[in-house]
Amino acid sequence: MIKNPVPWPNGARCAVAFTFDMDADSILHLAQHASADTRVAALSMLRYGPEVAVPRLVDLYARFGMRQTFFLPAWCMERYPAAVETILKGGHEIAHHGYLHEHPNACEPEQEWYWFQRASDVIARMTGQRPRGFRAPSYRFSRSTLDFLVQGGLSYDASLMGDDIPYLLENDKGQVVELPTHYAMDDWPHFMASRDLAYMMAPKSPSQAMEVYQAEFDAMWEYRGLWIAVWHPFLSGRLARCVAIARLIEYMHAKGQVWFATLEEIAAHVKRVIGDGTWTPRIDRLPYYDGPISELGPATPSLAR
Ligand SMILES: [Zn+2]
Repeated sequence: MIKNPVPWPNGARCAVAFTFDMDADSILHLAQHASADTRVAALSMLRYGPEVAVPRLVDLYARFGMRQTFFLPAWCMERYPAAVETILKGGHEIAHHGYLHEHPNACEPEQEWYWFQRASDVIARMTGQRPRGFRAPSYRFSRSTLDFLVQGGLSYDASLMGDDIPYLLENDKGQVVELPTHYAMDDWPHFMASRDLAYMMAPKSPSQAMEVYQAEFDAMWEYRGLWIAVWHPFLSGRLARCVAIARLIEYMHAKGQVWFATLEEIAAHVKRVIGDGTWTPRIDRLPYYDGPISELGPATPSLAR
């Protein structure tokens, strides 16, 4: 089912990373800049992330002796320094998630580079280390993003969805390790509901969402894949969902032979097994396209509505 699985450390069947994107209210300011300050209920829902959920999640990880990766827009780090301190005290990795959750593929390349560097500098200042990994806000990886990851010296990206195992992204400037995931592993489609952010979907019960995550885990365990959750403290850090997450972690521990790791550790392992010749990765050349495909010229009327 997986043609070329990674040899995980100590014979583990799969690697598992419960990554959290602490977007807090950055997403509301981005979506509703002029009126975000007046949307108090939405602000409170989003601030629940750094204020209530992050300390709870860090405690949960401590209970299981796990270190994990948190992606933080740098503006959120400046705004919520206590959450940053809690994450760092827990021994977790803080990775790059833009400055204000701006979408890289909505930026001109020079704008993207400006925000990228500005966020990197905040991470360096507040954590003492340059970022090692990146997840594009809202998965909006651009045609220039790989250039900036290489230029910024990052070792991995965790925004794309092109495989069940790590692979390499490559262009003329260099390479980074891709640690892929996909939408079923994101809590947004399971739990997001907010009038102010124009998402009105019926939230699923924690057990329905866990059923999806657990099925993904069982398959990754069986076939030696990589399981990466893309969760948000303000969604999955809510009480009943957090209780369900604890049960899922217990289930994974009971099953055994699981490597719980930060994405930084997973990327380092991938580089190691490539370096010593024990594993050969698949390589994706980027960008996939230099522009719109030529078969549909600019004058071609839309063929699908
Ligand atoms: Zn985000």
